[in-house]
Amino acid sequence: MKFTREHPPIKTDYWRRYRPYTRRDFQSICAYCFRHEDEAGGEAGFVQDHFEPKHRQNVDPANYFNLYWCCVECNSPRYKGSKWPTPEQLACGECFCDPCHHDPVGTDYVETNDWTLTSLTPAGGFTVRQIRLSDRESLRKCRERRALVKSLYQRELANLRGALIYWTTRLAERPSDEAREKCDSLRALVEAYELFLARDPFMLHHPLPPDVPQELTDAIHPRPFG
Ligand SMILES: [Zn+2]
Repeated sequence: MKFTREHPPIKTDYWRRYRPYTRRDFQSICAYCFRHEDEAGGEAGFVQDHFEPKHRQNVDPANYFNLYWCCVECNSPRYKGSKWPTPEQLACGECFCDPCHHDPVGTDYVETNDWTLTSLTPAGGFTVRQIRLSDRESLRKCRERRALVKSLYQRELANLRGALIYWTTRLAERPSDEAREKCDSLRALVEAYELFLARDPFMLHHPLPPDVPQELTDAIHPRPFG
């Protein structure tokens, strides 16, 4: 995930007032664990983090471009908190991956089959280690749930496509209002599912496709993971 920052419509010395614009720039997604608000406690579960900690020398706390959208979990001292690499670490290329610069996924670390992460660069190693992106139970569960939901939706999409072929053929052979209505509603559903599945990266956030079967609603129902 890579984010693009835009100038906020206001200029203020009180950094907390930038909250709606930071949230906008990061599309309601945590800059570190890349969970969407719908996956991690809603908007109330998010704060603005100073990417470079505000207590450091020469850091302007009100510098908008140093404010990153962050889930409260990542913001806690156990994870990102106010950590920053030492000069020695920086000299070895160890630093926090900056998702406003480039997408660290696939560049600095990759996701593995068991929902953990493997580092590819010193920056990736530092970030994964400090924020504990690999072994945090909540994040592993989130990745696992995404994969489960994705597979369920893919299966449902295949069913819907099958039904659409059936009704399209039937409409051609024996035109009726019923067949026409079925085709229209199935086409809309297929489109909604395709759009949902095309999300990259795949995240569980609204809007969800309409008329989701019960087994899928149970699996997808957005709630904080943990
Ligand atoms: Zn986070």
